[in-house]
Amino acid sequence: MTTELSPDALAGLLDQARQDYAALAARSLKLDLTRGKPAPEQLDLSEDLLSLPGGRYTAADGTDVRNYGGLQGLMELREIFAEVLQVPAGQLLAAGNSSLELMHDCLVHAMLSVVPGAESHWVDQERLAFLCPVPGYDRHFSLCERFGIEMIPVPMTDAGPDMDVVERLVAEDAGIKGIWCVPKYSNPSGISYSDETVARLARMETAAPDFRIFWDNAYAAHHLTDEPTEIADLLGACAQAGHADRAFVFGSTSKITAAGAGVAFFGSSPANVQWLLANNSKRSIGPDKINQLRHVLFLRDADGVRAHMERQRALLQPKFEIVQRILESELGGTGLASWTVPKGGYFVTLEVPEGCAKEVVARAGEAGVVLTPAGATHPYGNDPKDATIRIAPSYPGLAELEQAILGLTACVRLVGYEKLLAA
Ligand code: PMP
Repeated sequence: MTTELSPDALAGLLDQARQDYAALAARSLKLDLTRGKPAPEQLDLSEDLLSLPGGRYTAADGTDVRNYGGLQGLMELREIFAEVLQVPAGQLLAAGNSSLELMHDCLVHAMLSVVPGAESHWVDQERLAFLCPVPGYDRHFSLCERFGIEMIPVPMTDAGPDMDVVERLVAEDAGIKGIWCVPKYSNPSGISYSDETVARLARMETAAPDFRIFWDNAYAAHHLTDEPTEIADLLGACAQAGHADRAFVFGSTSKITAAGAGVAFFGSSPANVQWLLANNSKRSIGPDKINQLRHVLFLRDADGVRAHMERQRALLQPKFEIVQRILESELGGTGLASWTVPKGGYFVTLEVPEGCAKEVVARAGEAGVVLTPAGATHPYGNDPKDATIRIAPSYPGLAELEQAILGLTACVRLVGYEKLLAA
């Protein structure tokens, strides 16, 4: 870390940061910026969901949704989300309440029952590794840790993972069986994959014949601007490139309707869908079709999803604006930080000088502003540069959020100027 500031100027800035930090600590705040949870007002937007299906229990095909069966989920709901998730309805499965659960199950099933195209169970592989674009989503990394899957970090660019690195690694190493991708409004950087990135992922040659892209499109409909980002259709591109079974697409309504009480989706090639259905048929006699019908009646169609997401945006956009405004006013031009300006999703990534993230998070915590642990954005919780902090602005109210981000910026200045003065 270097600076062009004179020692006196630096001492003055540090003094101001110390005063701001002391003032923050004196307020004994209890603010939480840790997880990307919808705020209560966002959940209220789906209030009507709770009184549905309102005495109607029949799906479009005549199925009584109160009864067992229908493992693939209601067709009318799959038709709505086919467009949102870019998967033909026939190749889409509407399942339980959590897409993370589906990702978990896909890993377990791949380990214990042979995925289409594989020569053996993944659990019998000598080596089992996944590429992890960083910064990434900590729960993907926890799944890998849980199942002993080695994680290989790959740097992110502003167009998705660095494809030169990805192509080289997957071409030479048959132990690499998959890659985690959050292709739209990524967690935590907010970036979206370019068409070129999607095309390269679809056509790249992999040493593993059973390589899978875990395409976690959790923020497919979660725009924050007037210009929704569109990403290329990975599933179609894979089929066209002769790698039809490569993509596992995931999504859910967790951040559309009710987090924890929504509907999750899995989309893939016909062979993969049959594979998952066959495995699921051992695990369940069918999903919660009452909740699925409730979602059909509430959302109606893809336009209904878009209209609903506009109402979500009206609540979320001001929060993201507060974050940008305060980061700019407090840290702009200091050389102490850079940050992402997401066009959708739930997160902002803040980059602080190397070796400072853990300390910033610790100081913020001591002063009452709880942040996601530094390192959580990297495999094994280890950010080698100790520089990345994830900001999740959705849950707190506007006034609280303002206090929290102001507090965070005071901590960045405090830790940053302390380091500079010591250098
Ligand atoms: N994937 C990503 C990228 C997420 O950010 C989240 C929620 N934080 C999830 C999956 C969890 O989704 P679900 O509620 O459908 O399990």
